Amino acid sequence: MRVLFTTSEVFPLIKTGGLADVSGSLPAALQHLGVDIRILVPGYPSVLNQLAPLTHLAQLSELPVVGQAELLMGTIKETQVKVMVIKSASLYERAGGPYADANGMEWLDNPVRFGILSKVAAILSGKNSPLKDWQPDVVHCNDWQTGLTPAYMKLVEHTPAKSMISLHNMAFQGCYAPSWLPTLALPSTHFTLEGFEYHGLLSFLKAGIFYADSITTVSPSYAKEIQTAAFGFGLEGLLSKRGDEIKGILNGIDTKEWNPKTDTHLAKNYSATQLAGKAEVKRALQEKLGLQVKADAPLLGVVSRLTHQKGLDMLAPIVQPLLDLGCQLVLLGGGESELENAFRHLANNHAGSVSVNIGYNEPLSHQIMAGSDMFIMPSRFEPCGLNQLYGLAYGTPPIINATGGLADSVINTNIITYKNKTANGFVLSEASSASLLSCIKEAINVYKNDAAAWKQIQKNGMLQNLSWDKSALEYLAEYKKMLQ
Ligand code: ADP
Repeated sequence: MRVLFTTSEVFPLIKTGGLADVSGSLPAALQHLGVDIRILVPGYPSVLNQLAPLTHLAQLSELPVVGQAELLMGTIKETQVKVMVIKSASLYERAGGPYADANGMEWLDNPVRFGILSKVAAILSGKNSPLKDWQPDVVHCNDWQTGLTPAYMKLVEHTPAKSMISLHNMAFQGCYAPSWLPTLALPSTHFTLEGFEYHGLLSFLKAGIFYADSITTVSPSYAKEIQTAAFGFGLEGLLSKRGDEIKGILNGIDTKEWNPKTDTHLAKNYSATQLAGKAEVKRALQEKLGLQVKADAPLLGVVSRLTHQKGLDMLAPIVQPLLDLGCQLVLLGGGESELENAFRHLANNHAGSVSVNIGYNEPLSHQIMAGSDMFIMPSRFEPCGLNQLYGLAYGTPPIINATGGLADSVINTNIITYKNKTANGFVLSEASSASLLSCIKEAINVYKNDAAAWKQIQKNGMLQNLSWDKSALEYLAEYKKMLQ
């Protein structure tokens, strides 16, 4: 089976969040199962640099706006997965992030940048493909950035391949003025309710959901939640029409990249059977960040985008009572300036107990995951969430709000789950500061007063199989279903 996996970010070439982790790991796991898979990604500078030397595959022509672009191919060293890259200097080779400039301003030509990513995926799956020796059976799209692909496949390229769209986050939809339709060479006859129109705008994500042959989400709970007004971001009606077809498949984690036994970012490696090293990682982290070196102070860790979704505005007001209980807090993240400032302020006022690191830092994220005692993730919604899975793997029990993939992966500690050895974290009774505080207090109580129980909770998480193997099999089954 041949699969074209099209995405706007892929670890380790380019990453802003969980989508990159999935795009790095899932194709590798599928390749392991015998799937002939290639990733398609825009040629951002970091992609071109890391994959060099790239080989020329084909010249792409008749593209919207830019006319031509070059299709190159390289291989991700770590996984040996092949990556096709769209090289277009005017579209993708600029300083800044994949979606926005260094000041966080979205690129104004994003409809073209991701319209062309979508279009190229469709071309490569049809009779106009310049690749004569490689045609996919399935085109696997991810999020709004590739949402136009199924529309181009069905309406323009008339390709025989089947399309799947995976929904990683309904909050981002790629909605633009209808004046982009002719620019992107989309048939205006389909700018309707039964097409890619959404409240008078062109919606990339709606196009994906409407025209894809198969829809998946990144956890079973999220598959149900997005069919409701609270989580569907306006697309719940369309999604519930296809409700029975939407398959939720929980993400795995890259167990090579995220493994406390082998993680090269850590001062000391450790495992479920040799947990002692974790204390050394904690000490090294406290030293590095200027926190008081205290082995028994419960160290709360946060690695997150600082947005409303992630619920960290519920944490800021309870930092003082947590410090009064002897806790320390380490946070790594970036996003909304109000939240960044609130946490900066806390760090300034509580030097030695609160460390706030604004920015993106891959090594530090590993050190926080390993060096903290508890991982705090009170998201208001969470399609899957990877950080709680990393917390489980690193013996850092997650404290979470019961939503989406968090609800599907974290099992609250109580007498029953403790006895049957499934307890692996702590779950809020509702998304509020008060509930977060009482949940963290519960965790601290076990941490401080029952070392054996704490160790058991850590081990329950660490010994779970969190790898991609099982999820990759489920995706493969979905591909097969489409092709039947
Ligand atoms: P989302 O994709 O919604 O941001 P996930 O939990 O699914 O959330 O994935 C987040 C990924 O991004 C994880 O791999 C996490 O470690 C990483 N991450 C988020 N913020 C940072 C940061 N500031 N520095 C380093 N890694 C980060």
